[in-house]
Amino acid sequence: ARAQAMEITEKPDVSYDDIGGIDDQVREVREAVEQPLAEPELFEQVGIEPPSGVLLYGPPGTGKTMLAKAVATKTDATFIKMAGSELVRKFIGEGSRLVRDLFELAREREPAIIFIDEIDAVAATRTDSKTSGDAEVQRTMMQLLNEMDGFEHRGEISIIAATNRFDMLDRAILRPGRFDRLIEVPEPDVEGRERIFEIHSQDLSLADAVDYDTLAERTDGYSGAEIESVTTEAGMFAIRDDRTDVTMADFEAAIDKLESDDGTEYVSSE
Ligand code: ATP
Repeated sequence: ARAQAMEITEKPDVSYDDIGGIDDQVREVREAVEQPLAEPELFEQVGIEPPSGVLLYGPPGTGKTMLAKAVATKTDATFIKMAGSELVRKFIGEGSRLVRDLFELAREREPAIIFIDEIDAVAATRTDSKTSGDAEVQRTMMQLLNEMDGFEHRGEISIIAATNRFDMLDRAILRPGRFDRLIEVPEPDVEGRERIFEIHSQDLSLADAVDYDTLAERTDGYSGAEIESVTTEAGMFAIRDDRTDVTMADFEAAIDKLESDDGTEYVSSE
């Protein structure tokens, strides 16, 4: 069960070029995580400590996981992902145990990047209720902070956490020595969306030139993940129509479909 709670990727293969519309965030993550992993001596010479932990926050599906994976790819680090919700356990001590296992695994596989998704599950502001479940979650969080404090050569292991609920976080985890580098990952703007459409269409067999500019204009408020669904849905339209080439009309139809239904049905309306 313990191994199932973590997802380990020995050789992740996400490149920075696969990420669209958040160039500033890519640069910040590279500075905060890639550089300390790649050139720890630089930080030593200058006499500064690299950030202890990086927190990526912003709406769902904007590329937070991709960012963490891309740094792991670039630095040849093992990517170890754990969902915060997995750390919330029924039995006393089980969550803390998972945290210890997580860091032990990272030490065995270093260089490694520990990615904790939905950190809010274990680091939300405490409610007043002193229920035992709450206290247990608190203990799990303390264990995580202890492990972070205990790093001697943290250059070889980096910790990145992500959340969609920055407002809910217990500010205690943001203190120096903890998650002390905050990077906001926003929804893409119109240029970002255009770039993300281009990225996700790279592998598509296209019939004619696609007007990415128009697609970007039509998808205000879409996340990167939603744009990816548009391209997949466009491909589905081509298949339903017995074509192997995707057209601009397929993209338009895909957006119409996602706008008009909840996106859960993949059945043609014919
Ligand atoms: P969550 O908060 O829901 O975990 P996330 O921010 O971690 O979401 P990712 O898992 O990185 O989002 O993105 C999901 C998928 O959406 C990616 O695999 C990718 O295909 C697409 N995607 C999201 N953001 C981008 C982006 N900026 N550029 C290109 N593709 C993107």
